[in-house]
Amino acid sequence: MDSSVRKKAELIEAGGTTVDDSFLPYQSRSTAGPGAGLESVFVNIDGHRVRLGVRQASKFSATLKDGMVTIYAGGEEFAHGRLEHAISHCPEQVYVTVSERCAFDCKFCPVPKLQGKIKSDEEVLELVRQGLKSPDLRAITITSGVWTTPEEEAGRIARIVRLIKKELAGRDIPIGVSIYATDNSSELLKEAGAVEVKYNIETVDRELFEKVCPGLSFDYIVQALEHAVEVFGRNHVASNILIGMGESDETVIEGMEMLASKGVIPILRKTNPHPLRAGDIKVEPVSADRLLKLAGEQRRILEKHGLDPTRALTGCVPCTGCDITPRIDL
Ligand code: SF4
Repeated sequence: MDSSVRKKAELIEAGGTTVDDSFLPYQSRSTAGPGAGLESVFVNIDGHRVRLGVRQASKFSATLKDGMVTIYAGGEEFAHGRLEHAISHCPEQVYVTVSERCAFDCKFCPVPKLQGKIKSDEEVLELVRQGLKSPDLRAITITSGVWTTPEEEAGRIARIVRLIKKELAGRDIPIGVSIYATDNSSELLKEAGAVEVKYNIETVDRELFEKVCPGLSFDYIVQALEHAVEVFGRNHVASNILIGMGESDETVIEGMEMLASKGVIPILRKTNPHPLRAGDIKVEPVSADRLLKLAGEQRRILEKHGLDPTRALTGCVPCTGCDITPRIDL
């Protein structure tokens, strides 16, 4: 295995690094999902992108000079890589969270506690316009919590996708969407011009799902994913599986197999404990060894089912910043 991938896994295990002030202009604040409200920077180590959370304390520390980042551990140089600029949330993409609020209460997610902003159509379009100025822009990804109801949210996001398509004025930039699925969200989003969706299953341990995602239905999400593959095609539907909430490796492997057999790309995401959720959920450490072992299984399962992450166009699969991604990292 490429030693840089091992380093990336160790950096994901640690969850982040301390940084000096030279990083300040490059720090990006996440507004979506489990990392919401936290700052991060992106480093590319020998072709492997990693998102480093900015921490007050970490075994790692990072310095920046002439666009190059050096990461230290225990006073020794650990890794060296190129700083990557986030266009909007992540490199090469305009990644926008529309509703920074959520009517659900998944126990690992700070969004319901943050009760953040609801972006107007114009605010989203302005971020897209800014992104279009970047020569590096490859994709637009729209995500959203559930402000009122999943149905209303899906309708609003479909309308925004339509507006973005108009703004692109024929430019061939793919649009992907990650929201809570509804009976017709795939059709709505496809008609509006989206080319990919991500509906997150969050955990493939059914017992755990009941505890950490109250009010959501595991079977409904699986059915929605299966249907989304009919609408968007294989390699263009993905789903996050969080690691580190007490699930076993066997359950994760079975869950990846179940999703991949339906044409869905599972994304293995380390759960990072969020201060706003302390006390709501016990997040366990996830080692680099575990991440690499599960990513190896993920690669085997994807190959078995003829799925190829390099063909995904939007969102987390091509970004790779938070995960060890088969065929790209491993
Ligand atoms: S992998 Fe996904 S969540 Fe992580 S930085 Fe990239 S786009 Fe954001």
